[in-house]
Amino acid sequence: MSARRPADSAAHAKALADRLLAGDRRALARAITLVESQHPQDQAAAEALLQQILPASGRSIRIGISGTPGVGKSSFIERFGGLLTARGHKVAVLAVDPSSSLSGGSILGDKTRMEKLARDPNAFIRPTPSGGSLGGVARRTREAMLLVEAAGFDVVLVETVGVGQSETTVAGMVDIFLLLLAPGGGDDLQGIKRGIMELADLVVINKADGDLLKPARLAQADYRAALQLMRPRHAEWKPRVLLASAMLNEGIDAVWQAIESYRAALEKSGAFQAQRRAQAEGWLMHELQDGLLNWLRQDPEIAEALPRLQQAVGAGRITPTAAAGKLLGLLRRSPPA
Ligand code: GDP
Repeated sequence: MSARRPADSAAHAKALADRLLAGDRRALARAITLVESQHPQDQAAAEALLQQILPASGRSIRIGISGTPGVGKSSFIERFGGLLTARGHKVAVLAVDPSSSLSGGSILGDKTRMEKLARDPNAFIRPTPSGGSLGGVARRTREAMLLVEAAGFDVVLVETVGVGQSETTVAGMVDIFLLLLAPGGGDDLQGIKRGIMELADLVVINKADGDLLKPARLAQADYRAALQLMRPRHAEWKPRVLLASAMLNEGIDAVWQAIESYRAALEKSGAFQAQRRAQAEGWLMHELQDGLLNWLRQDPEIAEALPRLQQAVGAGRITPTAAAGKLLGLLRRSPPA
């Protein structure tokens, strides 16, 4: 998209928003491309668009699904999504994979791995936006989530792999976080970081079939015992450990039932909406911090002093607090234009 005058941006955003709100899939795809765009000239249109659709967003259940490569995320989502669309739901699949900027492409949200779902008129699959930091990818996924909701999708799946901070980031943008595991895949209890277990509202052990059924049952008992010892994320909900087989299409419905129970429990106490509010407020503070840092770096004096002070902090010549104080002192003297 080439440079656009502000008046054009507003008109463009309005037209796109109208089509998106009417459920037009091509408009939805274009809207997501617009919010993913890193061109500064697209920013005004993207912001205007998001503002217009915001009142129509939020009416979905947002489900995070995490698991290491090979546990069966695509196979599970194919079955799970198919079950839901067959029942009249509209399912969107988004992905968060910051490693895709390094590997030059992601297999998350890959349509060829969810063949039936990709052809399902009531499903919408969007692969990871490539490039950028985890923060950037997360922002674009959050915004894409608002767009798919406004287009009428009532179940949003946010898929991620176990790389670094991505699970924490995804857990911070969804209503329920599902950890997918497979027995005997090096994913036994010792291999899973405690921090990731603590994020899980639901643990699903996939591949509970054939020779893997027995180890899957053992793993289920282990995880149940381990979860007993952890503090649950919500007072209203004890994380459950379920068995499933995406291959045999077994146990998939029980996962949806558990999600519905979770939602009912948290809605009853008000925790569901409270979590959404806290997430939106957290996102604001995040954006504010990023924006302020960028703004600070535009000040020539600060841009010059920052690397010097960073080095001094690293070398232990000055405390981080004192260095930050110096930089803020410069800001007070000469606020950036
Ligand atoms: P992802 O990398 O987590 O998305 O995993 P995939 O869905 O691509 O699955 C990885 C491999 O596990 C594939 O060879 C699948 O056929 C296999 N697989 C997935 N689900 C099951 C299952 O329920 N049982 C068995 N036995 N294999 C499965």
